[in-house]
Order: sequence, then C-alpha cells, then structure tokens
Amino acid sequence: MAIVILILMQLEIFKRNSGGFMKRTNYISWDEYFMGVADLSAKRSKDDTSQVGACIVNPRNRIVGIGYNGFPIGCSDDELPWQREGAFLETKYAYVVHAEANAILNTTSDLAGSRIYVTLFPCNECAKLIIQSGIKEVIYLEDKYPNADFTIASRKLMDMAGVTYRQLTHYRIKVHYE
Ligand code: ZN
Repeated sequence: MAIVILILMQLEIFKRNSGGFMKRTNYISWDEYFMGVADLSAKRSKDDTSQVGACIVNPRNRIVGIGYNGFPIGCSDDELPWQREGAFLETKYAYVVHAEANAILNTTSDLAGSRIYVTLFPCNECAKLIIQSGIKEVIYLEDKYPNADFTIASRKLMDMAGVTYRQLTHYRIKVHYE
C-alpha cells in the first residue's frame, strides 16, 4: 500500500511539474492529417462514380495546394457529361481535370521538394504534372487500377524521374457528412 501511495505521490509531482497534463498519445500522424484533408477535398467532387482528392505539402509540413476532380472553371457541371461509357465527346474523360492537376494549379508556391497526398494512385497524365512541378513523393490511399496502362505508365515515369510513392496503410480517418 505504501509503495502504491509513494508512486501516486510521485506521479502527482510529475503532473504538477509538467503543467498538470501529460501529452495525448492517440493524436493523428502528419500522414493521416494530410490524407484527411485530401479525403475531405474529394467530397467536393460532382463525379458520381469517382471522387478523388489531393493535398500538396511542402518540406515544412505546410499545405500549399488542394484539389479534387472537376470540370474547368466556367465549364458547367450541368452541361458536361459525367458518364464513363460511349463516344469520347460524351464522356467525362474529354473534360475533367484530375485532383492532382487542380492541386498543382491551385498552388501559389514553388512545389520543389513537396509531397502530394492523393486518395487514388495518380494516372500517367498527373504523373507528368507531378514530376514537372518538382513534387518528390506521392502518398496514396487506394490503387484501384494497378494493371491499367495509365497506371503502368505512371509508375514508369515516376520511377525514371525519381519520384517515390508509397501507400498509406495506417489511416483511421472517416469523413462523414449528412
Ligand atoms: Zn490523373
């Protein structure tokens, strides 16, 4: 009993010396935090089948760009198609700007040495932009089309250019809205 009380007293002294509180230990990591921002951005997408978000972070852990997949500014969501099948001009592919491209275009900073958080592995067109912008690391949540040509080309380009990529496997954020 005496030992227990002694430990409790010492703990009390420690708490007082450290301002009365101990550090929270279940806080989210930087990776989860920035992926959470990308995840939230994806909720802005009007695409019925694929909502993608992106968040660019500089080496000082400051957010310098965010984006989601959508049509260009001034191009009506009500007049352009979101469908995936059919003649090219009747599909979204002719018109949509991907999340990564929007995030890169939205930035006001030099992206050299930055990293980009994306909810879906980047396609080859976005890989080109990522490389050219100076982004050095891609952190992605899902890789839905690993065997598609656009993903193979994307990996090929990033490998050649020295842009690294890794999947975020420990992600506990759930973005809900009503
Ligand atoms: Zn893309």
